[in-house]
Amino acid sequence: MIDAHIHADTRPYEDFEKMAIAGIEKTITCAHDPLPMKVSTVTLEHIQRLLEVDTQRAKENGIRLYVTAGIHPRSIPRDYKNVIENLPQILENKRVVAIGEIGIEKGTQVEIKVLKEQLELADRLKIPVIIHTPRKNKKKMTKILLQVIEGHIDTSRVLIDHINTEIIKEVIEHESMLGLTIQPGKITPFEAVMIMREYGIDKFLLNSDISSAPSDPLSVPKTVHKMRLEGFNDSEILRVSSKNAEKFFKI
Ligand SMILES: [Zn+2]
Repeated sequence: MIDAHIHADTRPYEDFEKMAIAGIEKTITCAHDPLPMKVSTVTLEHIQRLLEVDTQRAKENGIRLYVTAGIHPRSIPRDYKNVIENLPQILENKRVVAIGEIGIEKGTQVEIKVLKEQLELADRLKIPVIIHTPRKNKKKMTKILLQVIEGHIDTSRVLIDHINTEIIKEVIEHESMLGLTIQPGKITPFEAVMIMREYGIDKFLLNSDISSAPSDPLSVPKTVHKMRLEGFNDSEILRVSSKNAEKFFKI
């Protein structure tokens, strides 16, 4: 199994062991906002920590950890251009598989500008992006996101994350892949199963988005278990819990 979006730096060592025992073999940790990233050096140090410390902590528990690097919309440093200038070099590390998580939170002009610049970079370098959709004003923000994405990147390289029933209709016809975040306060394993029952499994990747907010390191295995109980076959389960992520991130 692959948990396609976590925040390894916020979790204890023991979570990796739990995940490995439950059958997770690979996972992707996304750069985010563990601190107010007032200056670019903090963002760059954060990414470096993911690459050096957290890949090692996961490895010691038998999990292969990949990294996505970028500027989270909740934590844009005042000299953010310095992060963008450093990204091409960071992306040369084969552990870094995408730019992310990026997106918008409140939809401010600065957020949109930083998002556009990162999308353009990803398009130029031909690498995937993970797009964060916020909890608040989710539908409105998703509409803005879709407009920004359109003109700036080949949409087959986009993963729109934290999809729920509120926005599924906005995004299901879009060419992008879609992330289902199974987490307390987002969607339950049962809701994820219902979404996949209605829309099929081709477009979806599963993730826990474990962070310092309430979250469950076993939410992907629990969703897989629920799928089995609800009659999904092995090949469908394998695709949504591994193959789709392997193909999208080339891991
Ligand atoms: Zn996240």
